[in-house]
Amino acid sequence: MDIIYSEDHRLRASKTELYGGELLPPFECPERMDYILAAIRDRGLGTIHSPKDFGREAITAIHDEGFVTFIETCWQEWQDAGFKGEAIASAWPSRSMPSTRIPNFIDGKIGYYTLASETSISAGTAEAAYTSAQVALTGAEQISQGSQQRIFSLCRPPGHHASKDQYGGYCFYNNAAITAQYMRDQGAAKIAILDVDFHHGNGTQAIFYDRDDVLFLSIHGDPADAFPYFLGHEDEKGEGKGMGYNFNYPLAPKTPYSTWALALADALNQISTYGADALIVSFGADTFEYDPISFFKLTSNDFIDMGRKIATLHLPTLTVMEGGYAVEEVGTNTVNFLLGLEGSS
Ligand SMILES: [Zn+2]
Repeated sequence: MDIIYSEDHRLRASKTELYGGELLPPFECPERMDYILAAIRDRGLGTIHSPKDFGREAITAIHDEGFVTFIETCWQEWQDAGFKGEAIASAWPSRSMPSTRIPNFIDGKIGYYTLASETSISAGTAEAAYTSAQVALTGAEQISQGSQQRIFSLCRPPGHHASKDQYGGYCFYNNAAITAQYMRDQGAAKIAILDVDFHHGNGTQAIFYDRDDVLFLSIHGDPADAFPYFLGHEDEKGEGKGMGYNFNYPLAPKTPYSTWALALADALNQISTYGADALIVSFGADTFEYDPISFFKLTSNDFIDMGRKIATLHLPTLTVMEGGYAVEEVGTNTVNFLLGLEGSS
């Protein structure tokens, strides 16, 4: 399996995450990639390629122009305002003040464009996010051209929490959504996105909620108990033309693979019925039993079976990296999934 990867992810090296009232070193850290790269090498998964550059236009095909400009300029504006820490939102439009006006001052503007405050922006964040999208797009191009049936885009930062005009949950640009749009623009009639990260792919859902050309399915921790808390319920089915093209499988704390796999079986049936031309998997290894910020109970071996089951769809498949924070095991679990998907494990 070919792997697309860029060292530019290291530009995303923020020092702080707001967690439990403390500013801690972020769970989403560059070392995650080192463990995945080591596992790719040790187990001979495939050849690593650098990304091409598809330009800013491929990102604004999904994301709001003002939002992309904000991501690009936020850190400079934050510094110009004289703030000493990394850029973190502290106020945003909420239920009792649902404004759509964008403040001028960066402390207000950052709130407008964020959905949660754990994720800080710092030097290099915009550049790393841009390259992460290009890593995903380079994989999508190979799938679109039919030259490969399986590609792994080793993206960092991840993307599935980012909506058209909001970042958060460690995500800035929605890599899976950007590639789905790219594949559509290249001629695919129908794309399915299967999100198996522990967390609900709220950004991806929001982006395609009113569309029937991109099917979205997410298996995740029940939002009653898990981030992002305010989206990902079973009764969110889509709207307008998109009605019936959104599937959520919220699962309870301590869910083992035997239960998780029942949701997967249903999701795979829906994808088969839909008749997608290609599949994008938003893969997160944070369903792992020892993940520090999640609550499912999947073992390392379960990831092999997960890959094998998804392979039974016989669809061209682009896997895009999302989360996974048990850093020392993230490589083993990710490569287990990919070898299962490839049918060689
Ligand atoms: Zn996650």
